[in-house]
Amino acid sequence: MSVRKNDYSCPVGHENCDVVDAVTVLQQRTAELETQIQTDALTGLINFRGFNERLEQEIERTRRLEEPTCLVMIDIDHFKQVNDTHGHDVGNQALTHIAELLRQDLRKIDLPCRFGGEEFALILPATRLAPAVQVAERIRRLVEKTPLMIGRKKISMTISLGVEHLSSSDPRSAAEFLKSADNYLYQAKHTGRNCTCHPPIDLSSEKAAVTRQERQDLFTTFGRKED
Ligand code: GH3
Ligand code: MG
Ligand code: MG
Repeated sequence: MSVRKNDYSCPVGHENCDVVDAVTVLQQRTAELETQIQTDALTGLINFRGFNERLEQEIERTRRLEEPTCLVMIDIDHFKQVNDTHGHDVGNQALTHIAELLRQDLRKIDLPCRFGGEEFALILPATRLAPAVQVAERIRRLVEKTPLMIGRKKISMTISLGVEHLSSSDPRSAAEFLKSADNYLYQAKHTGRNCTCHPPIDLSSEKAAVTRQERQDLFTTFGRKED
């Protein structure tokens, strides 16, 4: 008879097996370390390493399940001024503040990440371009209207965003997908910051894919009358 403990069983059938106990502890510790090395210590969001892994997984899922994925790249505007004016510690609090707003405002399946420095990324699984742009714009407005409070001091910030989408037939690699989202972010910086740039949206195909309420929202966001 062999004794099962978690995923392992004692090969010689001991009920209290030190080897099985040790393997179980090591397995738990490895899982904890895996989470730690993919977590940003300051904000608690998924870090760059975790982001790369999740993005590859999402692209694979997109191709397998034929559901699109969207990627939103975010950069805080003039963040150097926050550090220069208020100090590095307040700068760190500002990064945590933005991370918290991202966390609050997303669905459970969306993945907010700290890409590095004052840049964040959102992976939006099973999301078409138009709703992703709506999410990006909602976050942009939320950041704009929610200053960081340090005592009675208000520190207002804005962000620039670039959105890109990947359909199941799109052959681009993760690096190419990311580069394209980053180019839209770059465009947002050059358009004057505090805005979202994205590829053209095909409203006729979007219309076919959404509910009546979503269609209403689409036309509110993208400024065309519903026909
Ligand atoms: P832009 O609108 O063009 O993005 O201007 P910016 O000032 O945000 O961009 P820039 O690249 O000139 O400066 C980014 C600043 O972000 C400089 C760097 O010191 C700061 N920064 C990066 N990582 C951290 C961090 O972990 N903590 C703090 N406090 N600051 C950071
Ligand atoms: Mg930057
Ligand atoms: Mg910046």
